[in-house]
Amino acid sequence: MADSSVINISIVTPDGQVYEHRAADMIVVSTQSGQLGIMANHVPIIATLDVDETRVKYGDQEDEIAVNGGFIEFSNNIATIVADSAENQSDIDVARAENAKERAQRLISEARQKHDQAALDRAQVALRRAINRINVAKK
Ligand code: ATP
Repeated sequence: MADSSVINISIVTPDGQVYEHRAADMIVVSTQSGQLGIMANHVPIIATLDVDETRVKYGDQEDEIAVNGGFIEFSNNIATIVADSAENQSDIDVARAENAKERAQRLISEARQKHDQAALDRAQVALRRAINRINVAKK
């Protein structure tokens, strides 16, 4: 394991790299078994991520990234997140996310009326993505 006090962070999606930090103090992610903070020299880990914000801390600063599912792998002080989609706080289009939220809420009620479980599942995930983006943008 590289002996260092900082970690290298990369967030990639099918569209390419969304975020990189070469000297962060800590990354905090939401995994399916709870919140996880990783600092330098943490043991290697791989975990599935929720649709939630990821926080990167360095000095007295912090970056927030909306990460919409995927996984994190950490070893040798390198954290790699492979996400279905992810947006930096400053790249989030809030109006688009508000529209997506309203659309998802409408689709959820339609799916409930029709007892369409697959459509309900899809709309609930879309709603979580929209709420995640809105929350991160408004921090
Ligand atoms: P929409 O219905 O608005 O397209 P979505 O949740 O279906 O939202 P995704 O399929 O998750 O969108 O993402 C498609 C692409 O658009 C990804 O590259 C994602 O990062 C980007 N994206 C989606 N919503 C936003 C947003 N509100 N602001 C910035 N980028 C977004």
